[in-house]
Amino acid sequence: MKLTVLGCYGGYPHNGIGTSSYLLTSGDYHLLVDCGSGALLALEEVLDPLQLNAVLLTHYHHDHTADVGVLQYLWQLKQGKRAEPVLPIYGHTADPLNFGGLTWPNATVGQAYEPTKTLQLGPFSIDFLATHHPVPAYAPRITETATGATLAFTADTAAFAGLADWATGVDVLLADTNFFANHQGPAWHLTSTQAGNLARQAGVKRLLLTHLPQTGDLTQLATEAQAAAGDATAVDVVTAGSSYEI
Ligand code: ZN
Repeated sequence: MKLTVLGCYGGYPHNGIGTSSYLLTSGDYHLLVDCGSGALLALEEVLDPLQLNAVLLTHYHHDHTADVGVLQYLWQLKQGKRAEPVLPIYGHTADPLNFGGLTWPNATVGQAYEPTKTLQLGPFSIDFLATHHPVPAYAPRITETATGATLAFTADTAAFAGLADWATGVDVLLADTNFFANHQGPAWHLTSTQAGNLARQAGVKRLLLTHLPQTGDLTQLATEAQAAAGDATAVDVVTAGSSYEI
């Protein structure tokens, strides 16, 4: 499968690059994972949005959902060949108001995922872990059924013990790394050191840092994560528009 980064900042867009959104492709199946600010413009650079097969939302913070509304309008208004008659948007139901907004007549339909159950979605098999965040959020562990290739995406989360078990042995760990190692105060996201430690504990060979801070030196962020991860893990800061074969 191929992971394409559409947006990679946490909180708000910066320098023409948007917030969390990722395109996951297997064959001719296209899954959008989170749909933050700027996602639709970035998606249009690589794929006609009518060719999406599904959208998966980890949680309903705006930096992960800001472009859902305009994606719904596009599916309502744009003419052209569609991959699906109506675009399914998968979300959790712990927040009924936001889940209800995923349905837009003749355009998109909200589909509930059950976080304790495996979700079969086209070529993917997806398991979830509830994260530690101010609102209900779920980290998807995505397996490409045909190849066994695996991607774990932390969604947004503070560090906690269950993350390492959940991520054990995946091919790629995409980690919310919003903070440098010296972060002080409340942390609802991982620091660079925590992301590196998680990769090492989970035995992950490739760690991708995302949900990035707008200020500071991202080379330093990577260096700090690499120091914690150890030599067995390759660490990279993602960039918008980049693709990764998994
Ligand atoms: Zn969040």
